[in-house]
Amino acid sequence: MTDHDNPYSLAGKIAVVTGGSKGIGRGICLCLARAGADVVVSARTQTDVEAVCAEVRALGRRALGVAADVTKSEEIDALAERTLSELGGLDIWVNNAGGLPDATPRYLTKTPEDRFDAQIDLNLKAVYLGCVAAATRMKASGGSIINISSTSSLGFSLKNGPYGASKAAVNSLTRTLSREAAPKIRVNGVAPGPIPTENFMESTSFREDKPIADQIGVPLGRLGTPEDIGHAVVYLASDAAGWVTGQTLFVNGGTAAQ
Ligand code: NAP
Repeated sequence: MTDHDNPYSLAGKIAVVTGGSKGIGRGICLCLARAGADVVVSARTQTDVEAVCAEVRALGRRALGVAADVTKSEEIDALAERTLSELGGLDIWVNNAGGLPDATPRYLTKTPEDRFDAQIDLNLKAVYLGCVAAATRMKASGGSIINISSTSSLGFSLKNGPYGASKAAVNSLTRTLSREAAPKIRVNGVAPGPIPTENFMESTSFREDKPIADQIGVPLGRLGTPEDIGHAVVYLASDAAGWVTGQTLFVNGGTAAQ
């Protein structure tokens, strides 16, 4: 089978991944590159971004590293413009940057207003800014936008209310934009379950005498990996998902909302 016959191939596509330097974002970058895409790796720390670019190039793809803070609209716009001018197109945009800017667990009644705002800025407003930057530039040529949500967007998000609320709102943005941007642009989400990245380990406290997956109760018996999420992103970005839009795919080993 040639790449041309493979509906999962991303050969010739140009993808942007925010928060692409670490954890889930790095896994997404490498899965996209393995599927054939050229990748723009973006995060705030240029040296980390360049390290992932080197890994993408080692897979035989083009890579561009762009330092950008997703909470600043002018930096998101510059990221989109550099993608077009330096790589010559924009087919896939993954809004992945997010997490807990302050990992202190707090009940909602104890959450200072500025901490609430910081969570919403990073986990919701930045996704809106990324969606607008991508969708306006994909209008003529078409493309695929993928928003990284969380299993916390379901049910409740104990001692982490603004995070769960922002991710639930991301699922709503995904559904709305899928209608507004159809038929040329598909918009979907991936909602990960527990994946032991830097941010996950900083913001959780598990006992050391028992595997974390057992403490959480993951039906599939293990924590997730960045590649578990990367594979879902490749599917949603590819022609294999050509009739899929407005969906958020929960990739979480079967865990329900915590
Ligand atoms: P991570 O390991 O902490 O990586 C976060 C990435 O985002 C880094 O590349 C970081 O690089 C970048 N970043 C952080 N703030 C940024 C900003 N303001 N502007 C641009 N880039 C920024 O996080 P992760 O666990 O992989 O999480 C990735 C996504 O998955 C997040 O949306 C998170 O909510 C979601 N998620 C994670 C889990 C999990 O269990 N890990 C579960 C559900 C959902 P710099 O600091 O250099 O900018």
